[in-house]
Amino acid sequence: MKSAGAKYKVPNSVSLKTHKGQCFCGQVEFTIQTQQTKFYMCHCSGCQKVYGNLFASYFQVKKNQFKLHKGEIKIFNSSKNRQRAFCSHCGTQIYYDNKETDKLDISVGILENFEELEPVAHIHVTNKHFNLKNIECLKQYDD
Ligand SMILES: [Zn+2]
Ligand SMILES: [Zn+2]
Repeated sequence: MKSAGAKYKVPNSVSLKTHKGQCFCGQVEFTIQTQQTKFYMCHCSGCQKVYGNLFASYFQVKKNQFKLHKGEIKIFNSSKNRQRAFCSHCGTQIYYDNKETDKLDISVGILENFEELEPVAHIHVTNKHFNLKNIECLKQYDD
């Protein structure tokens, strides 16, 4: 008798999607192959400083799902076992790497298809700007 399992495909192999990304100057290009569709916002003081902004948005994937195709990524050791990776030419933040996990947190804004991804959570909100909850109510202009 044949094994019933042989009839079914492993879900991983059917729904992996390729995401392309590049830095601001275009020298760094990479792809990610993942099932992941969600991203989250981090309000920690490290992300605020590194991005020069109020929060960072991250697409978390496994390290072996990230592939650098061209360009030079520089690594900054931001704290013990934590690294920040950026384009050596333009300084765009590419990812955050917690060396104690098998995950990379990719900057969402440098992915070509970020509109297809869905925000799911805010983290480190003790450091969140007190009035961010009201920003969607502000006047909105096309440019
Ligand atoms: Zn660059
Ligand atoms: Zn953070």
